[in-house]
Amino acid sequence: MKKFFLAVAACAAVLSCVSPKSDAPRYSHVIILGFDGFAGAALDSTDRMPFLKGLMEKSAWTTRKRSILPTSSAANWAAMMMGAGPEATGYTQWDSKTSVFTPADRGPGGMFPTVFTQCRIAYPEAETACFWQWDGIKYVVDTTAISTLRSFPESEEGIQPMAAAAAEYTVREKPALALFAWDFPDHTGHTLGWYTPAYYDMLEELDKAVETVVKAVEDSEIADSTLIIITTDHGGHATWHGNEVDSDLFGPLVLYGPGIPAGEIRRPVYQYDIASIVADALGLPVPASWRGQFSI
Ligand SMILES: [Zn+2]
Repeated sequence: MKKFFLAVAACAAVLSCVSPKSDAPRYSHVIILGFDGFAGAALDSTDRMPFLKGLMEKSAWTTRKRSILPTSSAANWAAMMMGAGPEATGYTQWDSKTSVFTPADRGPGGMFPTVFTQCRIAYPEAETACFWQWDGIKYVVDTTAISTLRSFPESEEGIQPMAAAAAEYTVREKPALALFAWDFPDHTGHTLGWYTPAYYDMLEELDKAVETVVKAVEDSEIADSTLIIITTDHGGHATWHGNEVDSDLFGPLVLYGPGIPAGEIRRPVYQYDIASIVADALGLPVPASWRGQFSI
C-alpha cells in the first residue's frame, strides 16, 4: 500500500512538470534552428561564431545538453521532436525511418506524437514548416501535421540558400512552429574531423546562417512573440559520433526570446526536453508518453 501511495505521488509530481502551466501560450511562434553534429565543446572553444556568442548573452543557454543514446542522428532528432527517448519512440538508429518496435504512443497520423502533431491538434489551422538538408529529417517530424515542407541540397551549397529561404518564409508566413535542420557541421566532421580547422571554418559559415534567420525575425512584426531555439542532435569526435563519450553526448541549446532569462542553464537538459519546451511555449497538450521537462 505504501508503494502505491508513493507511486501516485511520484506520478502527480511528473504530471505537474509536464502539463502546460496555463491556457495562455507564452509565445505565438517557435523557430528551431537545428545543426547536425554541433559539438558543445566546439562552441565553448571557438571565437568563430560571434553572432551566436552575442546572442547567448541575451539567451538561456547550455553547451552541455545531453543527447540520448545512441548519440546518432535520427534517434536524437526523433527524441527532440517526440519528447521521449528511443525506448518510447522506437527510433533507435542513426537512420531510423519508423519505430523499430511498438512505440509507447501514436498520434492521429499513426506515428509517435511529435511537436508538430501536437501543434496541429491544438491549432488545426496553424501554419507550420520543416526545411531540411538531410532526408532523414522528414521521417521524424510527422509530415502529415506540417503545412510547408522543403528540402535543400545536402552539400555545402545548400547551407546559405536554406537560411535565406527560412528567413524569408518565417517573415512572410509567420509560422506557429518551424524546424530548419542543417546537415552541418556533421558533414564536415565525417569527412575532415570534429575540432579540425575545417570544422571551425564550417562553424563560422553556420554562424552566418543563424544571423540570417535571427535578424529577420528580430526585424519583423513577430519579434515580440517568437521563441528561437538553436540546438543540435549530437556532437562528435575524430571523424565519427555515436559513442558514449562527452564529445558526442554534449551539444548546445540556446533559447532566445522575450521573457527568457539570460544566463547559463544550470539544471541538466536532455534531448527530449526540447519538445516539452516547445509545448510549453505554444501551450500545446503534452502526451502522457513524453518525458521532457520545460523549466529552465
Ligand atoms: Zn546527426
